[in-house]
Amino acid sequence: MSQQDDIEYQVDTLAIRTGHTRSFEGEHGEPIFLTSSFVYENAAEAAAKFSGQEPGNIYSRFTNPTVAMFEKRLAAMEGAERAVATSSGMAAIMAVAMSFLKAGDHVVCSRAVFGSTVSLFEKYVVKFGVAVDFVDLTDLNAWKNAIKPETKLLFVESPSNPLAEVADIQALADLAHENDALLAIDNTFCTPVLQQPIKFGADLVVYSATKYIDGQGRALGGAVVGNHKLLEEVFGYVRTTGPSMSPFNAWTFLKGLETLRLRMNAHSDGAQKLAEFLNSHAKVEKVYYAGLPEHVGHELAVKQQKGFGGIVSFEVKGGREAAWKVIDNTRFISITGNLGDAKSTITHPATTTHGKLSPEAKEAAGIREGLIRLSVGLEDIDDIIADISRGLDLI
Ligand SMILES: *Cc1c(COP(=O)(O)O)cnc(C)c1O
Repeated sequence: MSQQDDIEYQVDTLAIRTGHTRSFEGEHGEPIFLTSSFVYENAAEAAAKFSGQEPGNIYSRFTNPTVAMFEKRLAAMEGAERAVATSSGMAAIMAVAMSFLKAGDHVVCSRAVFGSTVSLFEKYVVKFGVAVDFVDLTDLNAWKNAIKPETKLLFVESPSNPLAEVADIQALADLAHENDALLAIDNTFCTPVLQQPIKFGADLVVYSATKYIDGQGRALGGAVVGNHKLLEEVFGYVRTTGPSMSPFNAWTFLKGLETLRLRMNAHSDGAQKLAEFLNSHAKVEKVYYAGLPEHVGHELAVKQQKGFGGIVSFEVKGGREAAWKVIDNTRFISITGNLGDAKSTITHPATTTHGKLSPEAKEAAGIREGLIRLSVGLEDIDDIIADISRGLDLI
């Protein structure tokens, strides 16, 4: 794909062809530029690059060609103007907070966000004089009531973890913009192939690339995506404070993007089959998967998403003892809190990812003792179902 190309390519083509400008070596695969700095022909060229008169690389905390390839490819897949890569998903969220908030500002955040996101706002962002309120993701009135004149950012993760609740992105974007605030969406669970929040009015999209974008559990990374104006702020923050992505990790994610669509479709197909199996199982109390027509978020998910993703949560009858029995009787599914891997993973939220919450907070968040969260991997789905059934049959 040449730089002058004015053809509008489809996402599957962009995912494989965007971002790579061949070097003088004529390489076919994208190169990894493991270098901290860059050199110049003479002092005048150095001066021009440092002053910004001439574009070009200076130092890999600012820009690096491999990282830039990943950023261009991700932005293209998202239908966005620009992306800035970060060292992790949390670094991406912190970059949003530090780029767009100042003392006296206020944030409204959905309650069911990633655990470290809650800590980031409650423990660290508040230190800079920024107030944060948490609301129920599906309760639009709660969002409205939480907004104050100082509100500058609405932050939401959709679908939520682990109960797969779905936020109305368009409605939240309208609400944010009526109040001169920005809407940021953590799109880690869907990735740009299943959901493009900018099309529904979101201003910023953040990713943990550690999950599906890598897809094979190898590297930590993240990104912020949005328009040129907003992303210039994020770029300034990242290049100055240093949560930049490593070129090696960028290469891993760049290759991950090439197969992302195929993998997300396979994760979604497997998850749908598993959810339907669990839904008719006598030992299962409730299944949380937006691909099931009776799930509260089903209609919105159909409107906003191109698939329902790979995360299935379900509550077994018999509380913690029964849930642990299901987990402990699996043979190949990994018992770990991570997700978005080719390997299926299983976890008991009440005692792991959400273990630090008080009993009341767990109840409010719907994290019961019988709840199990499964990230459906790419193994044969019949084997996955059999691995889950082993424990279920013993309850
Ligand atoms: C994992 C995760 C994060 C944090 O990403 P890291 O890469 O671990 O820093 C943020 N949001 C969601 C939804 C996640 O699953």
